[in-house]
Amino acid sequence: MDAGPGALTVAELSGLPMDVGVRFTGQRWALADVRLLTPVFASKIVCVGRNYAEHAAEHGAEVPKEPLLFLKPSSAVIGPQGVIRLPAQSHQVEHEAELAVVIGATGARRLDRAGAAAAIYGYTCANDVTARDLQRSDGQWTRAKGFDSFCPLGPWIVTDAPDPDAEVRCEVNEEVRQLSRIKDMIFDVPTLVSYVSHIMTLLPGDVLLTGTPAGVSPIVAGDTVTVSIEGIGTLVNTVAAMD
Ligand code: MG
Repeated sequence: MDAGPGALTVAELSGLPMDVGVRFTGQRWALADVRLLTPVFASKIVCVGRNYAEHAAEHGAEVPKEPLLFLKPSSAVIGPQGVIRLPAQSHQVEHEAELAVVIGATGARRLDRAGAAAAIYGYTCANDVTARDLQRSDGQWTRAKGFDSFCPLGPWIVTDAPDPDAEVRCEVNEEVRQLSRIKDMIFDVPTLVSYVSHIMTLLPGDVLLTGTPAGVSPIVAGDTVTVSIEGIGTLVNTVAAMD
């Protein structure tokens, strides 16, 4: 993507960014004229719970001594402007703005911190949408975190690592609900990627959600949820009842 004289334009590509065979088609479009697709197809989405002290505190939870992991299914992923669908089983669905890390290396396992950093393809924004009532009642988090549309990702992948001072922000209908900085994470990105790689092999396109700051709150049909990370971009999704 390039900043043209008046507006951002996008270069159309064929294939996926981390595929060997990816190529540019030669077509360019004004960003305003296209709908961006989900920037990645993940075999798995590995998530970290309670990675900001203030968020752990708002749920009355201890700060974990090592990363607390769970998975979201790849079927939960939607892209920019996609619709978050509220399931009938829940009466308390909440947003969680998060930095998402996209893996580029093939067969990344048992990595040290330097190897973890080298295995990263890039970064994007995520919303770890959560049915909070089901998270509480189930104990296990798979249902609460796993509904279709519960993992908005995008708007694109930035290959440069974000500044530690970069803000992570969530707005609902333009009201700021979450505002923190990447450096406020308890476990930083290389530590998390290394930790996960000692449990499961990470594949190109796999996504790691790095935890959410304080300020999670309910979303309802008709809301517009915006996740922004400085230096990466802005992910906008609307909310509607399950169709
Ligand atoms: Mg989360």
